Amino acid sequence: MPKILIIEDEPELVKVLRSYLEKSNFEVISAYRGDSGLTAWEQQKPDLVLLDLNLPGMDGLDVAREIRRKADTPIIMLTARVEEMDQLIGLELGADDYITKPYSPRLVVAKVRAVLRRSAIEPTPSQVLNVADLEIDLDAHTIHQAGNPIELTPTEFDLLAALAAQPGRAFSRMQLLEASQGAAYEGYERTIDAHIKNLRAKLEPDPKTPRYIETVFGVGYRFSRKEQEVGSRK
Ligand code: CA
Repeated sequence: MPKILIIEDEPELVKVLRSYLEKSNFEVISAYRGDSGLTAWEQQKPDLVLLDLNLPGMDGLDVAREIRRKADTPIIMLTARVEEMDQLIGLELGADDYITKPYSPRLVVAKVRAVLRRSAIEPTPSQVLNVADLEIDLDAHTIHQAGNPIELTPTEFDLLAALAAQPGRAFSRMQLLEASQGAAYEGYERTIDAHIKNLRAKLEPDPKTPRYIETVFGVGYRFSRKEQEVGSRK
């Protein structure tokens, strides 16, 4: 049963929406303030948020911004401010749709269904790693560097995915063998060095002073945390 969070300060509207949504087999939770709505979103992990624009505690736009910073939960903005600017800002924030008040609860239910359907066919964000300027799609097994596709062998891909999933963590060659082959054979630890060398040749602007994959002497390798921080500041 999809869970819908209503963040709306008018109890009467919440009551009506709740009853329509529950009749349509949705689970409904609600909050009357922006700040408590954000807390409810964090704790209850709803499938969709119906978000009023004008809220006490924290403005609806700020709530949307906070949610979007952390996750792709679909958001439908509810607004009594009919100015087009507000609607545009709402959509730019990553809101998936908006509904202008006064609205019919039936329309809200229809929009909720449509947005949930649309978001269900999009890939879940956790299967794409974004580190530095790399985008590693774990489902499609593709990697892009600053938007350009990079061709990697399956072993190179698995090694990079393991390293980039935990920037700053040092992996032993043994652990990297396991990550890339599912089982490790002690004698083959040195083959990791050859794979890393090939990876660097494909990724690094200057393989002799690697930006992404650092050597940890006496241990193995790690994905640079520096790159990660530079990347996330963009
Ligand atoms: Ca309001």
